[in-house]
Amino acid sequence: MKKINEHFVCVSCKKDVQPALKTCRNHCPHCFTSLHVDGDVPGDRDTTCQGTMYPTAYELRNGKIKILFTCIKCTKKHWNKSIPDDDISSIDGYIKQYKKHIPLDS
Ligand SMILES: [Zn+2]
Ligand SMILES: [Zn+2]
Repeated sequence: MKKINEHFVCVSCKKDVQPALKTCRNHCPHCFTSLHVDGDVPGDRDTTCQGTMYPTAYELRNGKIKILFTCIKCTKKHWNKSIPDDDISSIDGYIKQYKKHIPLDS
């Protein structure tokens, strides 16, 4: 299994996102948008979904911030850890803003 840590252009805010140091970045540090590219194991890039994933919740656990992402295409959810350069103080606003895009649980 190889870990991919490449730079990408955010699908939502169009900012160029540089690779994170020492960790695998998979969401935009500016607007927290992510793409559904992983299967069951974070970093495995084992899905063909490619849907947009938005943060829908976050929590502080053992001093670390974890963010819950939901895919708007297949509704898969997964937790991801926040990385130090995330602009975490603005995540509340983004979660509210993205709410209208999130399909209801069925
Ligand atoms: Zn972004
Ligand atoms: Zn998906």
